[in-house]
Amino acid sequence: MIALNSPLKPDLKRLNQYLETINERGWFTNFGPLHDELTERLQDYLGVENLLLVANGTIALQLAGRALGVDNLITTPFSFVATTSAFQWQKDTLSFADIDRKSYNLCPNSARSAIVQDESINAVLATHVYGNPCDVENFDSLSKEKNVKVIYDAAHTFGVNVGNKSVLSFGDASTLSFHATKVFHTVEGGAIVFKSKESYEKAKHMINFGIDPSNGIVETGINGKLSEYQAAVGLVNLDKMDNVLEHRAELFQLYSFGLKDLMELPTWHSNANFNGAYMPVKLENRKKAKQLISKLAEEGIQSRAYFSPSLDSVFSNCKNHGTENSDEVVNGILCLPLHFHMTKKNISSVIEAIKRSGTI
Ligand SMILES: *Cc1c(COP(=O)(O)O)cnc(C)c1O
Repeated sequence: MIALNSPLKPDLKRLNQYLETINERGWFTNFGPLHDELTERLQDYLGVENLLLVANGTIALQLAGRALGVDNLITTPFSFVATTSAFQWQKDTLSFADIDRKSYNLCPNSARSAIVQDESINAVLATHVYGNPCDVENFDSLSKEKNVKVIYDAAHTFGVNVGNKSVLSFGDASTLSFHATKVFHTVEGGAIVFKSKESYEKAKHMINFGIDPSNGIVETGINGKLSEYQAAVGLVNLDKMDNVLEHRAELFQLYSFGLKDLMELPTWHSNANFNGAYMPVKLENRKKAKQLISKLAEEGIQSRAYFSPSLDSVFSNCKNHGTENSDEVVNGILCLPLHFHMTKKNISSVIEAIKRSGTI
């Protein structure tokens, strides 16, 4: 049996050492020493500043919007449902623009025409889908030209750089998810990387009920903090991340090499490294994608049709500026197994099973 995903398992001996120090101190949450240590180490590891740890990747999105003061976002229909639902939940206004047909990421030109048509849009919300960076250079220009903020849902891009810069340093804010299913995790958790110190400070008060320790209650806030127990898992997992990223990238490249002439794979940003977060492939249509999923299942190989459906069909109350590419991609898309506990041999087995399946 080859599972679609399998969480990184923290080293229990090291974890227990951290847990003992937490119990001795009796400081369990509210910006404790392990929280601060994880913040420092992540900033260092990722090469970013103004990183705020939060309770999960969904609240990271909500807070990024609130801290930047935006409430009307043009977004992608091709992402995990949380990208949209996080903002719908807090009654922000969302509208959809199309994705680029090759990268499956939000298309800057489609976002631009939507903004030209609707001047009340004050932010772009784009996902770096599957760990593949968006066209960050063009979103930068769009942001300057139209005076809109840019928020990236970077839940898939832990450890990804564009050139020699972290992908997280583009835009006004990037959000990460540290859910157990992600490349790096704290069981549940997440982070926001802000461009400005001011927004970071504001969000830090917001996740603590709006309390600024030196000035009292300065915002309407919520509880979005990451606990010491979660930070301990993060610190233990972070020690392994060089290995994890290297192994995942190697598996991803084996897949890509074996499949590139057989089926459609998304086009990657030409200046980015691979973190091997996901292995997406696109078949001709829904029927073939379903067939492949069940053929693989017969051989004990899990795969799943995500991201599907296109989010504009789920949130049909949101304005749609045209989502033809997304509607087409969701029909044939699926993700193959890819996680740290897989071997190179596993990858060959999946590729052979695809070749035998009669779907390509
Ligand atoms: C996982 C994920 C989220 C949600 O993160 P949680 O930590 O589970 O709340 C948001 N966006 C994308 C693209 C994701 O993959």
